[in-house]
Amino acid sequence: MPSSTPPPCVPLEPTSQPGPGLRDSFGRVIDYLRVSVTDACNLRCVYCLPARARFQPRDMLLTDEELVRLLGLFARSGFRKVRFTGGEPTLRSSLVEIVAATSRLRGIERVGLTTNGLLLGQQAGALRAAGLHSVNVSIDSLDQDRFGRITRRGDLRDVLAGIEAARAAGLQIKINCVVCRGLNDGEDIIDLARLTLVEPWQVRFIEEMPFRKSAHASAQHPVPEEQLLARLRAAFGELELLNGGRLDGEARVFRLPNARGTVGFISPVSRPFCGDCNRLRLTADGVLRMCLLRDEEIHLRMLLRGGASDQALLDQIKLAVIAKPWGHGLPDQVFPANRTMSEIGG
Ligand code: SAM
Repeated sequence: MPSSTPPPCVPLEPTSQPGPGLRDSFGRVIDYLRVSVTDACNLRCVYCLPARARFQPRDMLLTDEELVRLLGLFARSGFRKVRFTGGEPTLRSSLVEIVAATSRLRGIERVGLTTNGLLLGQQAGALRAAGLHSVNVSIDSLDQDRFGRITRRGDLRDVLAGIEAARAAGLQIKINCVVCRGLNDGEDIIDLARLTLVEPWQVRFIEEMPFRKSAHASAQHPVPEEQLLARLRAAFGELELLNGGRLDGEARVFRLPNARGTVGFISPVSRPFCGDCNRLRLTADGVLRMCLLRDEEIHLRMLLRGGASDQALLDQIKLAVIAKPWGHGLPDQVFPANRTMSEIGG
């Protein structure tokens, strides 16, 4: 967590029109950037972080100026959508200023945030005013005991208050639940899906992914989507498949009978959606990652601090897009090993 007041953000004035978007070597338009603003987190979810997690020293992280400069270059390269994540992004004390600077960039059309929601109660209004469009809030159980067992700390009531604040601020809301075998794959998914009967939200069930550095046994045997669907069908009746089965982002989407909202399934292991992947990831320490689940990286922080010109950085962004692999390597037993999900930015 940042220990002192960070330097103020330098608003970036766009100097040229954004480009039309970069195509990778497979013809995909890459126009979505996930940006981690800190690797630190105020939870220690058992599948994500060790109980005694250690975080990077402050000087390893991109400063606000460095980050906003890079975001301007991504916008110039044709990136249209930015999602801030972490670690826990609300721990970065300058998050509102970073969101404001990003939403002012010519070419950026959508700015989202993925958060555990604990601090959203205090920040939702300011984030919305800064230009944030949507929040994805992670909740793996609506039962305080199980929530505590999964997250090892934190109070579910604060998360729920955070969601209320997001609603009051007018932010679009999605709920993310990582399903872990034997932990929250029973009652919890029924409780979470039930929210969609009254709320207009999308509740998404995410398959647990295997990260070597945060090895969690159940990630070796993710719960298949079909099994979760069968449980929901038994509890609520037949679900309606929406969009003709086409993905909404990464999710296959259904509606429970008479529901206001929807349930989505994000199944990167059993139903990979790499063919539709349109994103790069920028870690809090300034590393560009072409695939969440592959270790190859391009180090931008060192270039930035070595005095690289805008053109040199634009060339690196282009190179990353060209180097983007077709898909992850899980079917070939290639597992991400150098970082945890929270060190990358989920
Ligand atoms: N702290 C924020 C949050 O809780 O949403 C943002 C960062 S967190 C790393 C982003 C998302 O990644 C969360 O929904 C989290 O549950 C998910 N995640 C972490 N480890 C995962 C894993 N091994 N497999 C699937 N999702 C994971």
